[in-house]
Amino acid sequence: MKAIRRFSVRTVLPAPLAPLDDLASNLRWSWHHPTRELFRGMDPDKWEQAKHDPVRFLSRFTPEELAALAADEDLVGRVAAAQADLDHYLTAPRWYQTFLAEHPDGGPATIGYFSAEFGITEALPQYSGGLGILAGDHLKSASDLGVPIVGVGLFYKTGYFKQSLNRDGWQVEDYPVLDPNGLPLALLTEADGTPTRITLDLPGGRTLHAHVWRAQVGRVPLLLLDSDVQENDEAARNITDRLYGGGGEQRLQQEMLLGMGGVRALRAWSRLTGTPAPDVYHCNEGHAGFLGIERIHELTVAEGMTFDEALEAVRPGTVFTTHTPVPAGIDRFDAGLVELYFGGDRALAGVPIDRLLALGAESYEGGSPGVFNMAVMGLRLAQRANGVSQLHGIVSREMFDGLWPGFDDTEVPITSITNGVHAGTWVDHRVFELAARYIGTTEVERDDAWHLAATVPRDAIWATKRELRSGLVTEARRRLRSSWKKRGASPAELGWVDDVLDPDVCTIGFARRVPTYKRLTLMLRDPERLKRLLLDPERPVQLVIAGKSHPADETGKQLIQQMVQFADQEDVRHRIVFLPNYDIAMARHLYPGCDVWLNNPLRPFEACGTSGMKAALNGALNLSILDGWWDEWFDGQNGWAIPTADGVEDAERRDDLEANALYDLIENQVVSRFYDRDEDGLPQNWLSMIVHTLSTLGPKVLATRMVRDYTEQLYAPAARSAWAAASDRFAPARDLSAYKARAREDWGGVHVDHVESSGVSDSPQVGDVLHVTAYVSLGALAPDEVEVQVVYGHAMRDSDDLTEIRTADLTHTDTYEAGRHTFDGDITLSRTGSFGYTVRVLPKHPGLVIPANLGLVANA
Ligand SMILES: *Cc1c(COP(=O)(O)O)cnc(C)c1O
Repeated sequence: MKAIRRFSVRTVLPAPLAPLDDLASNLRWSWHHPTRELFRGMDPDKWEQAKHDPVRFLSRFTPEELAALAADEDLVGRVAAAQADLDHYLTAPRWYQTFLAEHPDGGPATIGYFSAEFGITEALPQYSGGLGILAGDHLKSASDLGVPIVGVGLFYKTGYFKQSLNRDGWQVEDYPVLDPNGLPLALLTEADGTPTRITLDLPGGRTLHAHVWRAQVGRVPLLLLDSDVQENDEAARNITDRLYGGGGEQRLQQEMLLGMGGVRALRAWSRLTGTPAPDVYHCNEGHAGFLGIERIHELTVAEGMTFDEALEAVRPGTVFTTHTPVPAGIDRFDAGLVELYFGGDRALAGVPIDRLLALGAESYEGGSPGVFNMAVMGLRLAQRANGVSQLHGIVSREMFDGLWPGFDDTEVPITSITNGVHAGTWVDHRVFELAARYIGTTEVERDDAWHLAATVPRDAIWATKRELRSGLVTEARRRLRSSWKKRGASPAELGWVDDVLDPDVCTIGFARRVPTYKRLTLMLRDPERLKRLLLDPERPVQLVIAGKSHPADETGKQLIQQMVQFADQEDVRHRIVFLPNYDIAMARHLYPGCDVWLNNPLRPFEACGTSGMKAALNGALNLSILDGWWDEWFDGQNGWAIPTADGVEDAERRDDLEANALYDLIENQVVSRFYDRDEDGLPQNWLSMIVHTLSTLGPKVLATRMVRDYTEQLYAPAARSAWAAASDRFAPARDLSAYKARAREDWGGVHVDHVESSGVSDSPQVGDVLHVTAYVSLGALAPDEVEVQVVYGHAMRDSDDLTEIRTADLTHTDTYEAGRHTFDGDITLSRTGSFGYTVRVLPKHPGLVIPANLGLVANA
């Protein structure tokens, strides 16, 4: 074969249109309707052909066509105005600048946000589902708020797969190869124009090279590492081949490149742009966990620190977010494989292999020996960690409590910040236009704007909702026709597609990835009953369904096939459709077009879920199992809760019970409300629920609320802890490391010997004061090196457990013998009911933000 030299030719724009280059390469267009309209207005046909991707769109014009456009004064004026608007968006002070002004103790100058996937626009298909979309929404909202994040990820040559169906309804995967030169990406280069190169050592003396692509997401840069470069051997070139493809070894290599290579890319970014190095590193799920290892390595080399000292310098500035309670969602490697990459002469300077393996070891009850768990390492490397809804916080504290033996679940240091969604991306422009017309603003950040939904005329809401539903019907027919052509049908067979779905029928949407816990086919438990709902002559419902199964998940593919085969039946196919290739482009039609958004996961496996939030922002009502975010924010009027059969052991029976509850709700509540019309044809009760949803859920489900929460609760405190640990050439980190070593060594000598109490009579009353004296042995530790606490709360009947736990610190009062001390304190009984308490000793050091982090405790 001939060696073909390839390069991509980029469009050269005439000077008056030159700003289009910036407007196309900054991904703000993906959520800024006016910019998209500017492009579309230049040539609506080309815009459709280019699938709404500005870079592709501009490449379709000949120089002559561009010259003609450049002579159009009106267009040139609009281009200049759009450029000015973008400049303003990129430079004006925003929420974070006010936050800094109001917080004299400061906030991070830069936050590195690491994620294995980013879903920003369908034009950059580097995501598989919720995790990636969330990361994309996080960056976009950080941009809106002026929070100085730099995103770090990988560039996958084929992204995630494209889904289609074969004749039998079986999922078919395609992996179209992406040419980064044709995407809204720029190669990171050195001052002399050569590509910036990141390298990592691999076993066998091999070196992994990577280039770095930069996407610009509003104000936020996103760096994507790409191993498909000439310097690499074939195997190394393929490391960033696919998102979540390949086996364990490829995954490990990807994650080394993401974590370690990602830190190196950030260093290059700082060097080339003057951006300060991050104060805070946010590890979005475990995939990027090696970022902490790279930073430990850096500090041991640059500061002469030991591994343990460097660990204490790295932890304060690291935030870890866990996203799933499903074990299969967590990366676990064979420890031997990790040793192959990090042991012997491949060891990173300063990172002994046994220390690395210990960070990822499942060294707790129920853990597997020989396994290296990325989430566990993430938790051990981060001083602050969170789940993604309140319920998921609880579930995560239970799930990972083995890492903090001796502590109650409620004390496991994993907090929660509930996910949110980016309004600019997910609210349909017609909904924004309704707000502009009747509320006078589209500023979703304005807290006083949401409740004004109640002032929008009901008929206007209903008319917009019909327009959105009707748009979905058109889009669904287009997609269905194209799917059937791929499935081998001839156009003559497809006349019926024109009558699929009805813009006036109550429309229920269900779209998500297809792991088993999401229960795609729950609605098929009683097919006859579902048919009756679909075919009701007076009050039918229609269903729009979509979802991809992971290519290796045969069970998921079977579920899709069952669904497709049901929807293929002639008697129902006009009321239920399965649309292949669920992605951002489809989602943006789907959420606005639905009246009801259905979610029926197996509780509590849905960590948060975000699609229902996007639907809610477009005036859809949620019909969902009380899981994830819905468990937190369902209020009885913003939709419906499908009762769960929690505790029913038999999975089949549980599915039956929950499916029946679902049918009942649709039949008795949803349908009757939707079709209950007043004399003007308006479903007033339904509209009240929409208005209530927008006014009360609107401000909560925003990703800007989420990013503000991260900034205030995690990023800013993490930056301050990191600065404190780094002061005085890391003296506090070194000191903490020495203290921890000593505490671990001497903890065997720490005991609660005896507890006495006084002050409370035989029939205690609220307001009585309990005086507690604890006699403790501390061995070699000094009294100011421990915290002695009373732990008290509600005493459960028949068990040693306490609930609603609170703690009170006792004060050192006496050293009555060498190493033996008394500590005293008072507790006021503040509520009725059975009271229980105990005493414990914890380590204490100024660098220990959360005493439980050390995992040491002596209980009475
Ligand atoms: C929002 C979204 C998801 C995630 O939705 P969940 O409710 O978390 O399942 C997945 N895919 C796409 C395309 C989305 O837009």
